[in-house]
Amino acid sequence: MKAISLLSGGLDSTLATKIIKDMGIEVIALNFTSPFCQCGGKHKDGCKHKAQEMAEQLGVELKMLNTSAEFVEIIKHPKYGFGSGANPCIDCRILKFSTAKKYMEEIGASFIITGEVVGQRPMSQNRRAMDIIEKESGLDGLIVRPLCAGHMAPSIPEQKGWIDRSKLLSIEGRSREKQLDLVDEYKIENHACPAGGCLLTDKNFSMKIKDLRKSEMLNLNNARLFVYGRYFAVTEKFKMAVGRDEAENKIVQNFASPGDLLIIPSTKGPSAIGRGDVTEENIQKALGIIAHYCKKDPGQSLNYRIVGEGIKTAPVGSIAEVEPMPYSVNVA
Ligand code: SF4
Repeated sequence: MKAISLLSGGLDSTLATKIIKDMGIEVIALNFTSPFCQCGGKHKDGCKHKAQEMAEQLGVELKMLNTSAEFVEIIKHPKYGFGSGANPCIDCRILKFSTAKKYMEEIGASFIITGEVVGQRPMSQNRRAMDIIEKESGLDGLIVRPLCAGHMAPSIPEQKGWIDRSKLLSIEGRSREKQLDLVDEYKIENHACPAGGCLLTDKNFSMKIKDLRKSEMLNLNNARLFVYGRYFAVTEKFKMAVGRDEAENKIVQNFASPGDLLIIPSTKGPSAIGRGDVTEENIQKALGIIAHYCKKDPGQSLNYRIVGEGIKTAPVGSIAEVEPMPYSVNVA
């Protein structure tokens, strides 16, 4: 008997995996990479790193899947709408479960394990949402939720005796007290932050995503770039990512693709990418924004180019500063 566990590396999915594995079931953990995961901090590996660490502690095999491109498409038109930010949680979960189902069938596993707890997350972990997700992903009766099974109808694996329902838990609600006790009991260390680290639930980041969406500029490349830096919606079709520190300056530079405007000051100041409608007028606005952040030392300049074309230079002092207005486009 094999089962697939959706392992984020957080508290709940780690415990759920452990409970089923301890019943003698072979568990293969699945982790989904996302451009929006910030569990491990901005410049780290996020959930991927945590899932690896937890899989090692649990002694289970880990398979990483990348559904980022499909996920970004979902954000454009989520069937079940958004949560408080730009987080389409129900659609996101349907994508993950549907992908897990395909993998389950591919490797001959019999059911899916998740760390969901009924009542824990307002959008995706309530009974109605959990039913929708289960049905839409084609997994009716095949999802086992070891942490809250006592509050749910028995799944097929429980009904058929593949797993022992009496060993499953009856946790509900937002408190994680019981889970923290269990982590101590099982001696599991360094699990990821319990609340998860999805940037789409962050108010400020959500504004960027909603603005890109409204301007029809949301795609995987842009989603990846605009995770970093200050965001300027200079016009409807021209957006900028401006580094906030040295590390971000390097990251922003590395994202430069053909057709982008890349600005690198020779003096102390931020590097930036302008993407979209790179007209002469927008270039001047972009230089003005960067000039605002630069030291005006004599002899220093802004080096800029449209990637794929030659470098141009403008003395910083000669550029008309533009008062920075992040999120200057009104976003719904
Ligand atoms: S918080 Fe983010 S990763 Fe989690 S379900 Fe919602 S959209 Fe998906």
